[in-house]
Amino acid sequence: MADPKGFLKNTREVAGRRPVEERVNDWDEVYPGGIGRALLPIINVQASRCMDCGIPFCHSGCPLGNIIPEWNDLVWRDDWEGAIERLHATNNFPEFTGRLCPAPCETACVLGINQPAVTIKNIEVSIIDKAFESGFVRPQPPEWLSGKTVAVIGSGPAGLAAAQQLTRAGHTVAVYERADKPGGLLRYGIPEFKMEKKHLDKRLEQMKREGTVFRSGVEVGQGDLTGDRLRDRYDAVVIATGSTVARDLPVPGRELKGIHQAMEFLPQANRVAVGEEVEGQIRADGKHVVIIGGGDTGADCLGTSIRQGAASITQLEIMPQPTEERPTGQPWPTYPMTYRVSSAHEEGGDRVYAVSTKEFVGDDDGNVRALRLVEVAFEGGKLVEHEGTEREIPADLVLFAMGFVGPEQPGLIEQLGVDLDERGNVKRANDYATNVDGVFVAGDAGRGQSLIVWAIAEGRSAAAAVDTFLSGSTQLPAPIPPT
Ligand code: FAD
Repeated sequence: MADPKGFLKNTREVAGRRPVEERVNDWDEVYPGGIGRALLPIINVQASRCMDCGIPFCHSGCPLGNIIPEWNDLVWRDDWEGAIERLHATNNFPEFTGRLCPAPCETACVLGINQPAVTIKNIEVSIIDKAFESGFVRPQPPEWLSGKTVAVIGSGPAGLAAAQQLTRAGHTVAVYERADKPGGLLRYGIPEFKMEKKHLDKRLEQMKREGTVFRSGVEVGQGDLTGDRLRDRYDAVVIATGSTVARDLPVPGRELKGIHQAMEFLPQANRVAVGEEVEGQIRADGKHVVIIGGGDTGADCLGTSIRQGAASITQLEIMPQPTEERPTGQPWPTYPMTYRVSSAHEEGGDRVYAVSTKEFVGDDDGNVRALRLVEVAFEGGKLVEHEGTEREIPADLVLFAMGFVGPEQPGLIEQLGVDLDERGNVKRANDYATNVDGVFVAGDAGRGQSLIVWAIAEGRSAAAAVDTFLSGSTQLPAPIPPT
């Protein structure tokens, strides 16, 4: 620890975002010149605030088990190559988590007990951006090949992490992706203003050079490549197909035109943002947009609708407005806020809490024109509507962002014959194995909708299990057991 008094001398400072009026006119990341570069003038001092605690709770706060005090110290000493080596030892893709993670490590930071936590997420993204710029991120192809083959189905963060680990361990890995390009939600869910796709593409380039093969535009389980064929052709299979069945809202008027799932709207917007053309694109321009749901997906719909020029945007949430106030007599830090507050919430839109949608109201042409809502509260564990509070709000584009209920079952999952758990996710044992010999699962397909950091951690853990299955033992780390 280079500066034992760093946390006494220095206060927390984070990267400043671009002014709202500037950034809503483009799709670039909300930080000037990329967050990593924006942070460089302050980052050594910020890293010096790490106390290098005897028991660093940040390690266990992070699902990846990132060894945070070590790379904080290396950044403080200006040893960026050493820092990326320590960071990559536990995290394949810090450029994703450094931009997109809600940072449970910061919630766990001991400094947070009586002053603001170390800016761990900012330090992480500075390390990886500087590493890419300085040429420290090099392909790490295996020294020998095992002769074993693995199919990874799905190219989101879980599939990519599993594939990178298994390729480096010497197995021959093919990643199948039904979309035209790999990346999963990192490419077609998450907008450019949160993470520009060039960061994903740079990492995919490294993976290709290491020997991972990508087969995009192939939906496994449809057409020739059935579950049986897959098992015949490969020694092991990793299901990393995500949680893609979106929760619906079957209230009167659901059939009206202008009501869409977020994942119908966002992928189209993301394609257009990088210069593609989408015929019949669902757009928010000039419309009264209502977003139902208050998480990351809702925030991404909000930022996208703002950039497309919506006339008004209202984001509805069934839960009450959270409070960050500490209850009297409770000295310890409060539980983190229930809802994500994203950069998009600085940019516009109204948030309405504790309401439920009763009905969508249409015009004579079958288009939605309004949404009828009612105020609600949770009483005795039950959702209760407040009589006399029903009202209509204008809505000519409604976007559902109410979460995902599990992986799609027809096709691959049915063909493989894997068991599902009581929530409809792929059931796995402690080693990420399913009930079908040689078939493993990682990420949202098994965990249920979650976070990028969990997907990467599960991908790494599943890779260790596959390596043991194929080779009898493994040197690969397994950061987390499944829950
Ligand atoms: P996914 O990323 O969903 O990837 C699964 C892939 O499998 C997809 O590309 C799909 O096309 C492919 N696939 C499915 N079936 C087949 C098949 N049969 N054959 C071939 N390919 C198939 N988390 C955060 O931590 N921070 C955020 O800011 C954040 N923002 C989000 C924003 C949105 C809009 C959404 C929807 C989620 C967000 N999340 C965020 C959650 C996070 O993106 C997911 O938890 C994570 O991507 C899950 O990774 P995964 O690899 O399991 O699945």
